[in-house]
Amino acid sequence: MSRVRLAAVVISAFSLILAGCDSSATPRAASWHAQSGSGSYPGSGQAGGEPVTRPAVDPGGSSSASAKPSASASASPSASASPSESPSASSSSPASSIIRTTGDSTVALTFDDGPGPETPKILDMLRAQGIKATFCVIGVNVQEYPQYVQEIVKDGHTLCNHTWKHDESLGKKSADVIRADLQKTNDEIHKAVPDAQIKYFRHPGGNFTPTAVEIASELGMKSLGWSVDPSDWNIKKWSGQQMTTHICTNVRNNTKPGSIVLSHDGGGDRSATVAAYKTLLPELKGKFTLVAMPV
Ligand SMILES: [Zn+2]
Repeated sequence: MSRVRLAAVVISAFSLILAGCDSSATPRAASWHAQSGSGSYPGSGQAGGEPVTRPAVDPGGSSSASAKPSASASASPSASASPSESPSASSSSPASSIIRTTGDSTVALTFDDGPGPETPKILDMLRAQGIKATFCVIGVNVQEYPQYVQEIVKDGHTLCNHTWKHDESLGKKSADVIRADLQKTNDEIHKAVPDAQIKYFRHPGGNFTPTAVEIASELGMKSLGWSVDPSDWNIKKWSGQQMTTHICTNVRNNTKPGSIVLSHDGGGDRSATVAAYKTLLPELKGKFTLVAMPV
């Protein structure tokens, strides 16, 4: 008996050591999905890669995340999008002009809502693994941390405009307001890095509207969606080890050739994201060709 008990203790301790992102911890994640109670999201929605169809909550991840009316989701131009829609579709409709996959076998990691205090940790890990990614930055954060934008560009990552202050309703506002917001954000990025290329736009919450997509296009930016969302923005639901495990499980289960993975380097406590990617980066690198969205 005592030997058995000792073995159990040893195994348990070993599991704790590996728990940062170890697959031994993954079974619990299923129950977290079940608890989400959102039906179409996140569990069922992600595999199909239709982030914009998800309801109320905001992948922007900040404190205002939970109050958004789901009505806006149904009003979204891509609410009825189907997995068959491809990012390279030639249709001029806004829904089909939102990029949701890389278009080939590569996988793109995208990090939103920064730059922030934990951006350097993400950059260090990417650098150590020789991985390029795409950062969807918020104007006010660029203003606060211009040096991190400089590091992002210097390391060969690419940039995406995530609006001036993460206004989830921006797309519903007038064309002039949207244009001014996106331009102001680009201007702030260019203050940090004068020759920075900003070829992508991601609406906060994924709440793309035809007007926002059109204006982004006028400003030279393609609208960038995603197909994998590990919900690291949902810090009200998960934290600490649970969040880390959840992120790992979700990314492992849903990432496939062509995936665009959404995570966050800013907008809240991202320690769980950092912990998850410490393990995920070498794993993903072993399975896929990881790329920054091209400029
Ligand atoms: Zn965001």
